[in-house]
Order: sequence, then structure tokens, then C-alpha cells
Amino acid sequence: MALDGDVGDAGRDRQISVLVIEDEPTIADMVALGLRYEGFDVRTAATGEEGLRLARGSRPHIVVLDLMLPGMDGIEVARRLRALGSVGIVMVTARGALNERILGLESGADDYLTKPFDFRELLARVRALLRRMGTLQEDVLRVGDIELNLATHEARRGSRPVALTAREFEVLAALMAHPRSVLSKEALLSRVWGYDFAGDTNVVEVFISHLREKLGDAPQQPIQTVRGVGYTLRW
Ligand code: CA
Repeated sequence: MALDGDVGDAGRDRQISVLVIEDEPTIADMVALGLRYEGFDVRTAATGEEGLRLARGSRPHIVVLDLMLPGMDGIEVARRLRALGSVGIVMVTARGALNERILGLESGADDYLTKPFDFRELLARVRALLRRMGTLQEDVLRVGDIELNLATHEARRGSRPVALTAREFEVLAALMAHPRSVLSKEALLSRVWGYDFAGDTNVVEVFISHLREKLGDAPQQPIQTVRGVGYTLRW
């Protein structure tokens, strides 16, 4: 599948498009926000009809599809999406709706998730589906001389391996996923520690400080503070 969009220094600049069809605004917003942070091109629709119209126009790689929609339900939407061609469908169902889950899979959904779900679980399903579809070829993030292997959790700066804790790895991965953006401490908190984490942003400063030490200043310190805003990478 052709991947369009700007392919820059970062391996994550590939614009993979996701259409979120969900009538609950809080869930739609949470999913869209999270996927955009991860570098996906995201569109949202609150009804099946609107979703199908968008899908015809934008040909998304992945559709995150709520089963219970007003008007046309998710099963019918999935059937019609299938007719449009190659698309990965992750169906989202209410908790315990076993029959509906089966229907979802029979309708041609590739995977399903039960509400309430953790965003990271959805992200893992979407990535796994993209790999199965052959759209994601590898799980390596590269920005400048920093390389993160998301599959093996190995980090390198140039030829030097950098030993990171799991959280440090996630913080760096979040920065590398948006190499040209400034991420606020709050954004890093929600991205790495979870959306419901009501903690102190000081924890972010601590992890950034450890990461800076481990990455080192040669040839330059890649993690820069943007005063009053957050952190960004420079390379
Ligand atoms: Ca719904």
C-alpha cells in the first residue's frame, strides 16, 4: 500500500490514515487525540453514513468502528467498508456483548476491542493490524542519530547502545514520534503514564533529566526545553 505524506528524517513521518467512527464524543476525542500524537492522520465521524462518505473520499488504512451507532450500525458499516477495498477494521463493542463481538468478526472486522478500553491497547491492535496488512514494515523510530526499536526496546545513539528503563523508553519514543513538535509535560504524562494519571508533572522532569544524562551531550543534547511550553528534539 502506498504511503503518502512527508517522509522526513524521522521514520515515523509516514502518514497512515485512520478513520474513527464513534458517536460518543469523549471516546472519539480520546482516540483521535491519541492517534494523532502517534503520528497518524485521523478523521472522525459520528455516524456510519458520515463515516462511509469519508471513507469513500479518503481511503483510510484503518477504521476504528463502534458497533452501536445511531442509524446504520457498525456491522452494516463494516460490510460496506469491505466493499470499498483494502481496509483494516477494528470493531469496538460494549462490554460483554459476546454475540455482538462474533457478529462483528463475521461482518469482516479484523479485530475487536471491548469498551472501556485503554488507548494503548487500541494502539497495539492498530499497529498489529497494520503489520498484518503489510503497511507497517518495521518498528524502528529514527531521529538524527537516535534509534529506538519498538519491538525489542533497544535504544542506540549512533553506534552506542543506551540502556533505558521502560518509562524512559516511552518518554523518548513519545518525543521521537513527534520530532518536530513541542510536547508539554501534561501531554507526556497522559501519553506515557495514561490518560487518567492525575500526577505531578515533576515526574516528567525527573525522567527527562535521566534521559538527557543517558543520551549525553555529544555531539549535542537532543532533548531541548522550550520554556513555558515543554520539550522538543533538536538534531
Ligand atoms: Ca456507540
